[in-house]
Amino acid sequence: MSEKGKKKKESRPKRSKTLKVSNQIPPKRRREIERALDAHESSRPDWDRLTGAKQHRFFGKRIKPGSIRQIEFPLLDVKLGDSWPTPVTIIHGRRPGPTITITGGVHGDEMVGQVAASLLSQNVFTGPGRPLDPEMMAGTVRLAPVLNPPGSTRQLRYFPDGRDLNREFPGSEAGSTTGRVAHRVLNDLISGSDFLLDLHTAARGRDNLPQVRADLAHPPSNRVARAFGIEVILDSKGPKGSMRRTAVDLGIGSLTYEGGGANLADHEAVQIAIYGVLNVLRSLHMIPGNAARPKFRLLASGSTWVRAEEGGLVDLFIGRGSFVKTGEVIGRIVDPLRPSESVDIIAPSRGIFICTANNPIVTPGTPVGHLLPVTRGVKLIRKGLDKNTNRLIVSGSTGEPIWREDFEVEEIMIEGEWSGGAVDAEWQRDWVNESDKEHVEAAEEEDAD
Ligand SMILES: [Zn+2]
Repeated sequence: MSEKGKKKKESRPKRSKTLKVSNQIPPKRRREIERALDAHESSRPDWDRLTGAKQHRFFGKRIKPGSIRQIEFPLLDVKLGDSWPTPVTIIHGRRPGPTITITGGVHGDEMVGQVAASLLSQNVFTGPGRPLDPEMMAGTVRLAPVLNPPGSTRQLRYFPDGRDLNREFPGSEAGSTTGRVAHRVLNDLISGSDFLLDLHTAARGRDNLPQVRADLAHPPSNRVARAFGIEVILDSKGPKGSMRRTAVDLGIGSLTYEGGGANLADHEAVQIAIYGVLNVLRSLHMIPGNAARPKFRLLASGSTWVRAEEGGLVDLFIGRGSFVKTGEVIGRIVDPLRPSESVDIIAPSRGIFICTANNPIVTPGTPVGHLLPVTRGVKLIRKGLDKNTNRLIVSGSTGEPIWREDFEVEEIMIEGEWSGGAVDAEWQRDWVNESDKEHVEAAEEEDAD
């Protein structure tokens, strides 16, 4: 091995270790990812931490270092009619660093990102000594909880012109309504960012295991995807016209987080979203603390859709995160008009369900589950399963939400009185000699008020 080769190997022990546990990505794609990461090694930007941060500009407004501002960001440029203003909270750190944008509600009926980004904008996160305290922050966090406000209030994925914002990027100033929104979001919110975390859920009728999607051959995206700190990472460029794919084309390290289903503020998915965002900020050294890491990562570049072969109603025995064996019966289709008959649904291979249907109505071909086939790391994965349900316990889902306020902690009253007049008075009685009794009594009197 050449000197150069040796040096390279020594300088990146962590990466080769994490790649070892990668599960499904084929060797050709892995080499492509490795090459991209190697080429990126020398071009990582260094933030000048010696000089102070400059004012941050957003949509013609200035934000001072060490401060927070909430700015109304109109999604349409109009004199008449609704401009769909949406709030963007800018937390501008005291010290310089990268700019990261966190978006929710690109699909109006997906509530998890809207709840998570709203919570992150609140004082429990941004107040003094809290995780997003601007005095302790290096760089800038932009939080845009809802990029489709008309869809959000109507619980609709699409904009009022029937278009999907996440297929309209880069958009155009003179294009369709949703195309104009895309153009504005891209130019005023996304393009000034170094990183983008776009928070989503599954579409209606499905439930996603909390997971991250990123183009792993794009080094800054690879970095934030791993830093998020959860088990399942899908290597994908994202659909054409999506915000993430367009942002990557601009060199912005981007990921999509998916957790839960549409129209639901899935608490676990919200909690994991916040855990992941904070992990990314810690990993980028924007906020203090160490990023948490999962025990293993499933890096996947392919999956299997399990479909119903008959019509009717599905009784699904599994849920998101279920680990199944090849041939396992995962559900049963019944037809209420022919109630005496049923057909089983069988798992085609061993693996983890990263998405399951929660709408029971099926016709032949309806997907009932999205399976990540697992061929390696089975022992490790089994250790991460809930013993009762056989489902993957996703990092960040356990433990108390850190945004729970003090007044929400139940205080349970236990009535009685301290025997002997003080907490430890009876305890003392046991070991004090009879001759010292006077001292004890004196001490007890002092304690009693
Ligand atoms: Zn979505």
